[in-house]
Amino acid sequence: MSTATLLKESGPREVFCGLTSIVWLHRRMPDAFFLVVGSRTCAHLIQSAAGVMIFAEPRFGTAILGERDLAGLADAHDELDRVVTDLLARRPEIRTLFLVGSCPSEVIKLDLARVAERLNDVLQGRVRVLNYSGSGIETTFTQGEDGALNAMVPLMPASQEAQLLLVGTLANAVEDRFKTLFARLGITKVESLPPRQANDLPSVGPGTRVLLTQPYLTDTARALKQRGAEILQAPFPLGTEGSRLWMEAAAQSFGINHTLVDATLEPLIVRARKALEPYRQQLQGKRIFLLPESQMEIPLARFLQRECGMELIEVGTPYLNRDLMEPELELLPPNTRIMEGQHLEKQLDRVREQQPDLVVCGMGLANPLEAEGIATKWSIELVFSPIHGIDQTAELAELFSRPLHRRERLNTQLLAQI
Ligand code: SF4
Repeated sequence: MSTATLLKESGPREVFCGLTSIVWLHRRMPDAFFLVVGSRTCAHLIQSAAGVMIFAEPRFGTAILGERDLAGLADAHDELDRVVTDLLARRPEIRTLFLVGSCPSEVIKLDLARVAERLNDVLQGRVRVLNYSGSGIETTFTQGEDGALNAMVPLMPASQEAQLLLVGTLANAVEDRFKTLFARLGITKVESLPPRQANDLPSVGPGTRVLLTQPYLTDTARALKQRGAEILQAPFPLGTEGSRLWMEAAAQSFGINHTLVDATLEPLIVRARKALEPYRQQLQGKRIFLLPESQMEIPLARFLQRECGMELIEVGTPYLNRDLMEPELELLPPNTRIMEGQHLEKQLDRVREQQPDLVVCGMGLANPLEAEGIATKWSIELVFSPIHGIDQTAELAELFSRPLHRRERLNTQLLAQI
């Protein structure tokens, strides 16, 4: 049972919206296309954050719809049909099309689920059209992935077969490594959601055991459970300890003998601890404050405290799913301060008061905090980096030691100038 201190606050937020997740989903599934139904702001965000070629078609935002009265909604539907038809004619390789909703009120008035249904009728299976929301009103940046995966679940074929399903985007090399390790344990049928080709969806059913690779997939986990899958309870595969417990949860569920698990993982653990040591020495005793952004904060805090010896001042999370997070919370030191939600000014006041050695935060907050002499780490980098698994433990720690190192160098230079 966890003894963390769970707190909540709400107020002004400073977080990227769910459109951001298109950046990594797009790389993962090259045969899928994400059509943002949004404004110029959305187009700008995606283009600058990702450099992804995106057809944001600003005419579906305020720019054109704003000039029309509400009766113009029929025109909006026609216009969206036209854009999709043009797009598919130009890009015949697209097999799955995601219509991604956004914030402008004109877009909210469009029923994208109905649009997707209508387009699916018209396209007759040639292209699958799905929809989800990436709106900043409803989602933070990692929740976009939850929306996209959740939209795929109903299309997954049904199966009774015993299999392990890894859910959440992983770097391909990390995914391959996990599959090799699971095969060594005797678990050979391992599938992934999202798959590498959007059209190649894994099956799901009562024989499916799910290991979540990312902590922000609440809706997807619920939808998979409704399809009969079992969601395995485990910490997330970050750091040596989390990764080992995560793999052990699968091994236990498949009835695999402990001795084999230990013999397979022990050499990796020894190697990972050795590689971690120089970073642990640098991080040990340093005080860290994690602001709420990615929902990865709690597993990261657990790794940084237990394996790197850091002191946790506060661990923010935009949303706390108690069920999924319980195995993580149990590993945190007593009375760890967990703050769900955000009140930006109050949080920044606490940061300034506490003067942490390192703050994990969004890109928008990093510059002002750095200017005040506080070292920062962008949380978005943690989503883009291959940090999962025992082998990646040192890489994960290095991401936190780098900004500290930079700050120390800066301080030394400043002192030398005085
Ligand atoms: Fe578009 Fe809303 Fe995201 Fe801004 S917050 S980029 S308007 S979806």
